Amino acid sequence: MAGRAGLDFHRSGLNSSQIARHMNIPRATIRGWIDPRYVRLVVGCRGCFRCERTSNVPGPDYVYLLGLYLGDGCLSGHAKGVWRLRIFQDTRYAGLIAECRLAMASVTTARVGLRKCIGCVEISAYWKHWIHLFPQHGPGLKWRRRIVLEQWQRELTSAYPAQLLRGLIHSDGCRSLNTVRRRWSGREAQYAYPRYFFTNASDDIRNLFTDTCDQLEVRWTQTNARSIAISRHGDVAFLDRFIGPKS
Ligand SMILES: [Zn+2]
Repeated sequence: MAGRAGLDFHRSGLNSSQIARHMNIPRATIRGWIDPRYVRLVVGCRGCFRCERTSNVPGPDYVYLLGLYLGDGCLSGHAKGVWRLRIFQDTRYAGLIAECRLAMASVTTARVGLRKCIGCVEISAYWKHWIHLFPQHGPGLKWRRRIVLEQWQRELTSAYPAQLLRGLIHSDGCRSLNTVRRRWSGREAQYAYPRYFFTNASDDIRNLFTDTCDQLEVRWTQTNARSIAISRHGDVAFLDRFIGPKS
């Protein structure tokens, strides 16, 4: 009833501050009646952005997490409709572990836990909404089924392509030094230059990787059935600006 009265005041031309004073109700509540998105931004900004249909989407963190999930993450179903998202990182890479944890905490209200395994750390959280954020989940291994992004995911990955490459390389990729020997004026010299690799058994996920490289005008080559390399100096230098060696 109060909400309807507030809306009537709004239609009559009063602004939210005037209605709040008149009805002795907090201004944020009035603004929520006038524009329901306002309430979600204030009260529910850390909930599931798909269910809340909020405009306050943590885009960069979500796209990075999507890259990690597609590369090497997994979802598993538990009781009462709860899902568990797990992502593994090598124990040597404290920076990647921290970044994964922060990205996960940015998109979920659930507690993000760390667990040490042999040689790796498992970063995970139980949440009912993971399946809404990662609808690519399905029975069996990712490379055995089609992996197709939904329209809303394509919009986010197009908006944050660098984050997608970071997530994919931070899970299923690496930056390594390639050493070559060259004979020059009778002397043998050794050169080392960095390259990025992305290796995944899924054609769809590799295509997603190379499509994103194309969007960023990064040249790539397929080195074997499952691997993509980025070797040109300018392209490696470009990726170094936002990816770099794992640490
Ligand atoms: Zn949801």
